[in-house]
Amino acid sequence: MEGELDALKRTSRAKSIPLDTVRLLAPVIPSKIVAAGLNYGELVRDLKIEPPKEPLIFIKPSTAVIGPNDAIVYPRQTQELFYEGELAIVIARKGWRVPLSEARRYVLGYTCMNDVTAVDLQSRDREFTRSKSFDTFAPLGPVIETAIGNPDDLALTTKHNGKLRQNARTSDLIFKPDFLLSFISHIMTLLPGDVISTGTPPGVGQIKPGDVIEIEIEKIGVLTNTVAAME
Ligand code: MG
Repeated sequence: MEGELDALKRTSRAKSIPLDTVRLLAPVIPSKIVAAGLNYGELVRDLKIEPPKEPLIFIKPSTAVIGPNDAIVYPRQTQELFYEGELAIVIARKGWRVPLSEARRYVLGYTCMNDVTAVDLQSRDREFTRSKSFDTFAPLGPVIETAIGNPDDLALTTKHNGKLRQNARTSDLIFKPDFLLSFISHIMTLLPGDVISTGTPPGVGQIKPGDVIEIEIEKIGVLTNTVAAME
C-alpha cells in the first residue's frame, strides 16, 4: 500500500446500523505486526530482570489476524497457550526513519490486540516465530480509535472468563508508543495499516478451549475473543 489511511471518510448517518446486527471484522489487515516484549516496568520488576536497554521486537504475520468475537484456535502443537492484552498502534502513512518528534503524524489510531503466545514453544525455540505466529494468534479490534491524542496514560485491563487478570496503565510502558514507532521505522519501512503492538503488562495466563478473553483499553473499547479446539 502506497497511499495513506488518514483520509478516512465518514458515511452518512442514514447508513448507521445497530452493532448487534453485524459481525465486526478485524479493523485492519496489516502488511506486518511488529510487537514489543518486556515493555512494562512492573513486568520486568516481577520477573526480576533488568529492563531492556532498547526495544525487544519481533514480528507476527498478517495471517494471524482475526477480528472481534472470532475464535482463537488452540493448536495441537502446544500445551501452554497464553493471552497477552496489549495497546496497538495502527500506521496511517508510509514511514521510514521517522523522527521521534514526528511519530504522531504517522499514527492513524489505536486498537486492542491480544498477542496470543504458545509459551512452551517460545521456551523451546531460540526465537519467537513459531510461538507467536499460528493463524488466529493476533486478535485485533474492536475499532481503530482515531481521536486519542496521547496514548501514554490509558487504562488497560484483561479479563479471563470474567475475572480481572491484567490491570495496568500505558504510563508504565518502558518504551512509549511514539518511541517504538520511530525506533522500528529506522529498521523497516512502516506501511499504511501496519500494526505495532506495545507489549503486555503483568497478569498473563493460560487459556483453554471454551475460554473467553476480554481486553479493554480506555477510550477504545473491548476486544472479546473465545478459544476453540482445533478441529
Ligand atoms: Mg506480547
